[in-house]
Amino acid sequence: MTTQFDAEYDIIVVGAGASGLSAAVEAVKNGNTVAVLEKLDSVGGRGQFVEGSTAFESAEQKKRGIEVTRAQGFKALMDESQWRANAEVVSAFVHNAATTIRKLSDIGAVWEDVTIYAYEQESELKTMHWAEGEGARIIELMVKAARDGGAEIYLSTAATELLTESGRVVGLVAKDADGQLLKLGAKAVILAGGGYASSPEMMEKHSWYGKNARYFVDLGTPGNTGDGMNMAVAAGGATAETGSVLLMPVAKGKTITSHVSGAGSQPYLWVNTSGRRFTDEVVAMNFSDAANVIAQCDQGTSFTVFDQATKSHLETDGSDISLGTFIPYHAPLDRMDAELEQDLTTGTAAKADTVAELAEMIGVPPQALALTIARYNEMVDGGVDDDFYKPAKYLRAISHPPYYAVRMVAGTLVSVGGIKVNGSFQVVGEGTDAPIPGLYAVGAEASGIYGDTYPLTVPGNISGFSYTSGWLAADHASAQIVKEAALV
Ligand SMILES: Cc1cc2nc3c(=O)[nH]c(=O)nc-3n(C[C@H](O)[C@H](O)[C@H](O)COP(=O)(O)OP(=O)(O)OC[C@H]3O[C@@H](n4cnc5c(N)ncnc54)[C@H](O)[C@@H]3O)c2cc1C
Repeated sequence: MTTQFDAEYDIIVVGAGASGLSAAVEAVKNGNTVAVLEKLDSVGGRGQFVEGSTAFESAEQKKRGIEVTRAQGFKALMDESQWRANAEVVSAFVHNAATTIRKLSDIGAVWEDVTIYAYEQESELKTMHWAEGEGARIIELMVKAARDGGAEIYLSTAATELLTESGRVVGLVAKDADGQLLKLGAKAVILAGGGYASSPEMMEKHSWYGKNARYFVDLGTPGNTGDGMNMAVAAGGATAETGSVLLMPVAKGKTITSHVSGAGSQPYLWVNTSGRRFTDEVVAMNFSDAANVIAQCDQGTSFTVFDQATKSHLETDGSDISLGTFIPYHAPLDRMDAELEQDLTTGTAAKADTVAELAEMIGVPPQALALTIARYNEMVDGGVDDDFYKPAKYLRAISHPPYYAVRMVAGTLVSVGGIKVNGSFQVVGEGTDAPIPGLYAVGAEASGIYGDTYPLTVPGNISGFSYTSGWLAADHASAQIVKEAALV
């Protein structure tokens, strides 16, 4: 029986974030009728927070004399994933990312710089393209281009179920702002829901961190609840590398622009809930790796401990490592005192005149913390970190009271594994690598460019991938629609 629809489109895009809007812009450009469904009451998703995006051999790189080849990008991403990434998907991204930058320029993006994320991290490739107004501006431009091209963007409208006929996706069910269920027909559906980072249950079930994910703080918008993955699986789609999540250290209860959080992210002394040091804190330069380390501590929690002298250093000389534009390199962290007024009452931070008191306040064994600090100070005096080999310039004594501790957890930026796709971003079926006709997945919803974790050595890659996979899926779907129309 043929399904009766409330409305029909050539292409329906689920999610009005970085990847979905990119898909919509391309789909209308190709002459399709397009609906974009967004479950929240505003557009942009996590794409609004993007700072910079990866591309290889772009005109913007060439203009600045930066040479990062596609081959280098491909190898870096494959090697970082230990070849668990899908080479077809990585190749599609690497090959087309420069075109994405051009396409975004065509709709008005202005690129201010191409750089790396963390200065002093020598392994990073110069791939991060920073747009004027960053990701929020790119979203604005894509919304305008999509609407100008005729796309209808429905807010507060969530896709809930894919509709299939004889193994092909023919549309979906959506719940609109009034709670009404709509049956919408489409020749192709592009899932662009941005993964499952907003769902605590899915984080615990699917991410590599299991129960520790309960302690994470979600730093993004609330709509990314894994609907795409659940709908694709219900329609027979396969999943891959579902555990990968992009994390960043953050002080418990704070945002990533907080100066207390910025202080907690510096490569000083980090201890776990047992009061033991557990890592070379210079991992802080790579925020993704750093959060992976913290996420695996007991209760996904660590404490960054420093003294008054180091606090004054942060307030006057500035941070030793950056967190992009959120905590710029060497920016004085001069809002700490104002923030601490509240943070000392909520348990986000502690301040004490003795180590024993500090330990008591953060709930770690006082004797263990005293021993850790004594050992650390001994290595500071000797100028060599014999335990974890941290460069000497980050060894700062803990000897001038008052002492401070900042409670750090992992903040979730976005999940980056999920629906299994091929190099054209078609969702493939469970138990087969054959595509499900009419179904695509893009952006953070799609798996394929990561293994266990997010490689910051190719900075900006998930947004670069999101924009790129969006328009590539739209191009493939458009070509299929033309081909199938010719057969009728
Ligand atoms: C603070 C922060 C900073 C970041 N900085 C960077 C950066 O500098 N560089 C970088 O590469 N990445 C960065 N990211 C990651 C960035 O968010 C992703 O790269 C990008 O947004 C992924 O695009 P997407 O389209 O997959 O998801 P999103 O942009 O999140 O869009 C998904 C949209 O789908 C909607 N949706 C979900 N389910 C449904 C449904 N059932 N029906 C309808 N709509 C639905 C969601 O509400 C959301 O609006 C950052 C993330 C955060 C939180």
